[in-house]
Amino acid sequence: MDRTQVAIIGAGPSGLLLSQLLYLNGIDNIVLERQSREHVAGRIRAGVLEQGTVELLLKAKLGERMLSERLVHDGVSLAFAGRSVRVDLKALTGSSVSVYGQTEVTKDLMDARTAAGAKLMFEAAEVAVADFDSAHPKVRYRHNGRTHELTCDFIAGCDGYHGVCRQSIPQGALQTFERTYPFGWLGILADVPPASHELIYSNHARGFALCSMRSMTRSRYYVQCGLDEKLEAWSDARFWDELRVRLPDEIAAAVITGPSIEKSIAPLRSFVVEPLRFGQLFLVGDAAHIVPPTGAKGLNLAAADVRVLYQALVEYYRTSRTDLLERYSQMALRRAWQAVRFSWWFTSIMHKFSDDPFNHRLQLAELDYLSGSTAALTSLAENYVGLPFEV
Ligand SMILES: Cc1cc2nc3c(=O)[nH]c(=O)nc-3n(C[C@H](O)[C@H](O)[C@H](O)COP(=O)(O)OP(=O)(O)OC[C@H]3O[C@@H](n4cnc5c(N)ncnc54)[C@H](O)[C@@H]3O)c2cc1C
Repeated sequence: MDRTQVAIIGAGPSGLLLSQLLYLNGIDNIVLERQSREHVAGRIRAGVLEQGTVELLLKAKLGERMLSERLVHDGVSLAFAGRSVRVDLKALTGSSVSVYGQTEVTKDLMDARTAAGAKLMFEAAEVAVADFDSAHPKVRYRHNGRTHELTCDFIAGCDGYHGVCRQSIPQGALQTFERTYPFGWLGILADVPPASHELIYSNHARGFALCSMRSMTRSRYYVQCGLDEKLEAWSDARFWDELRVRLPDEIAAAVITGPSIEKSIAPLRSFVVEPLRFGQLFLVGDAAHIVPPTGAKGLNLAAADVRVLYQALVEYYRTSRTDLLERYSQMALRRAWQAVRFSWWFTSIMHKFSDDPFNHRLQLAELDYLSGSTAALTSLAENYVGLPFEV
């Protein structure tokens, strides 16, 4: 039987980052991932990093490529009623955000863990967690056709929304809070320069649109779509036409089109479970909470959980202190609910929920108010760049 201090389930950003930070603090850990390395490395997802996330990645000694390749954004724009209003994040909060794709973060993390000789098990099948309500949790899995059993002190459930860890906690021990939205985002990635050097969030009577990017030569665009939409029905030409219709004329004219290199539909969801700890099992990142991507919070929230958990584990192994571990759930949930609230609010003012013109007029009135109120813009900006961390 193998042994480690912390068994980490899932090699997404939260699992890899936790693994790296624990390693740097001398804590032995193993990461078990269901998918292949190539699959994990190739997933196109988030792109906006809060300053707090950047600082945590630097602490994890991953910063070099990120600092040279990221795009620092001091503002974002809100487009509505044929005009666009810039939210000056830097002037309103003193902070900026960084555009650096989740794919790049994952690559940096994988490279760092591999270089350090980390125990990263890709294609680990039938992962099962057990005895986490005792002092000797166990993880069983199959790898290369053999069954393995691992004992550990703690299990970190970094295995995303569909993972095994949350599902292994006894029914009744967790409370679930959920809201689904009656639409999704159709996203396209294309090797064309972005329409603007900053992100543009657009409210339009036909639905939401977002102009985003991964670099100055690679653009990421989204349009709100029905949940029953089929990707095959969206040729590149149809996508570009729909995007431009939903943008103010000046921005639409700046959109440079090209062949898509990726196209996908993602449903939107708000989801939280409480608590995030059951015995020696801790839920981290998307395993614990999901937010709609409008506020660019999913990846940042995963990093924020890791920040709290790794510090608590370091303290435990260094001084036997358990109070930080005991506070993990409360601290992580406090931040998660702030992000859930902000993402829900931002989603609700930018998307089309029905054909009712009253609702659209209300959204336009709110955006109009926002654009003329420093107080309201500051509130948006504070949440967008990331609220301060609890100490
Ligand atoms: C399509 C899509 C688009 C998104 N776009 C954005 C965006 O624009 N902005 C934003 O901020 N956020 C976005 N997100 C959210 C963001 O990507 C996530 O918040 C982030 O990936 C969370 O990281 P994580 O490590 O907690 O979970 P994940 O990235 O989901 O990683 C979990 C890992 O666990 C593995 N796993 C699952 N089950 C098992 C098992 N039984 N055994 C072993 N391993 C297992 C999975 O294969 C996966 O590698 C998006 C998410 C999706 C799905």
